[in-house]
Amino acid sequence: MAIAFESTFSSLPESLFSPVRPSAVRQPVLIRLNDDLAADLGLNAQWLRGTEGLAALSGNAVPHASTPIALAYSGHQFGTFVPRLGDGRAILLGEVVDRSGHRRDIQLKGAGRTPYSRRGDGRAALGPVLREYIVSEAMAALGVPTTRALAAVATGDRVQREIGLPGAVLTRVASSHIRVGTFQYAATQGDIAALRSLADYVIARHYPQAGTAQNPYLALLDHVVRAQASLIAHWMSLGFIHGVMNTDNMAVSGETIDYGPCAFLDTYDPAKVFSSIDEFGRYAFGNQPRVAVWNLARLAEALLPLIDTNVDDAVARAQEVLAGFAIQYEDAHLRHMRAKLGLSTAMSEDAQLIEELLLTMHDGRADFTLTFRALSQPSVNGGAPAELTKLFSNPERFNGWYERYQDRLRREPVSPLERERAMMGVNPRLIPRNHRIESVISAAVTDGDYAPFHELVAALATPYAEKPENDPFTAPPAPGEEVLRTFCGT
Ligand code: AMP
Ligand code: MG
Repeated sequence: MAIAFESTFSSLPESLFSPVRPSAVRQPVLIRLNDDLAADLGLNAQWLRGTEGLAALSGNAVPHASTPIALAYSGHQFGTFVPRLGDGRAILLGEVVDRSGHRRDIQLKGAGRTPYSRRGDGRAALGPVLREYIVSEAMAALGVPTTRALAAVATGDRVQREIGLPGAVLTRVASSHIRVGTFQYAATQGDIAALRSLADYVIARHYPQAGTAQNPYLALLDHVVRAQASLIAHWMSLGFIHGVMNTDNMAVSGETIDYGPCAFLDTYDPAKVFSSIDEFGRYAFGNQPRVAVWNLARLAEALLPLIDTNVDDAVARAQEVLAGFAIQYEDAHLRHMRAKLGLSTAMSEDAQLIEELLLTMHDGRADFTLTFRALSQPSVNGGAPAELTKLFSNPERFNGWYERYQDRLRREPVSPLERERAMMGVNPRLIPRNHRIESVISAAVTDGDYAPFHELVAALATPYAEKPENDPFTAPPAPGEEVLRTFCGT
């Protein structure tokens, strides 16, 4: 069996990518294959599990029809522009058209050095590979646009980080790997023709409607802005922190990409930061909408020469589109939060009700996920149920809010039963809690025991279901179990 790889990206100007070959690993062992995703992609899971499949997934052989490349990109890292980053440890095997007709990239992460590796070894350690597998698949199950994990393979090689660690390769699937930084790279080259080719390619691949707009490049910016406003509002509704929202880690498709030191909130805290190198809280939970629009302004800058030959006009038009972000984000945020509270109608006081709940959760150190899940179970006698109140260290303030919430619910046209059903479908019972991920990684890295990894991945596939066997995965960290910082460890 062969994978029907195509490589439409290679039709773009050569400055935007480099042909590469994966480097072989010593002793590849398949850790996990995502059978459902393989089926969606029209790939034969049995073949992938076999000798040839394993060789392809580890980078030990380049599959037939694949012409592997590494993509060039720039990026603002923590606000500082780096003109040449690129796929330093990722190799794009090619694209496949999935069973729904969508073009998807298949990429090996950790498959060896490329012309963009700088001082890096092009390799990935096992821990970050498992983390990306767990979190990206959990995000998909939660309904958030995201890159996917097709497979994780242990390499049998050691990679040298602060300490020597077992190596691994992740096979990542994305609707594309084109980033804000890809446009920055094309713009930095000063080659307008290449920039235009890239923009035309992205329009055709992701936003064909923009192609027929009066100004396709302005329309492209508008589509990316909308996709990101929607994505970030979705993150915020689930307590997800990306951790490193550099412009090179923001996909123009609107999928979540590049899971590094990412995490989900336990207790609600807008100032929460996970990345060990984020000293100033640039990528703190509550800052994510602001950072997104900052990144989108960098995309707009890159697109300016295409938007209008008159710079002032181009800037004015781009600014107008960027201003849409705040409106679209607020709108999407309100929609998510109303759904989380079971509000099927829109009333003017809703924004304040939501804000007061979040302030009360912050003040009362309430667990984000448990609070919304408990709110989904209707109260028995009108008062706040005990299992809800006990999540707050400020129960009086919470009870005050809860009374206002009940007043609001009395003006809802839907029945409590209908409301419960709707809320249980948007307020997850399970999220990939950071302390769980750390213990799964530790079992794999220290003891070579992958059973906890498989159990966690399986449980996270149905995050909204009320399954007793998933009880152990719902608990927030006990005192002392909290993970304070996540090291990039890449
Ligand atoms: P990331 O932290 O994943 O967003 O990566 C930032 C940049 O560093 C990208 O250009 C990566 O390709 C590159 N990079 C990260 N780790 C490595 C590595 N081990 N070897 C080579 N390049 C790397
Ligand atoms: Mg990255």
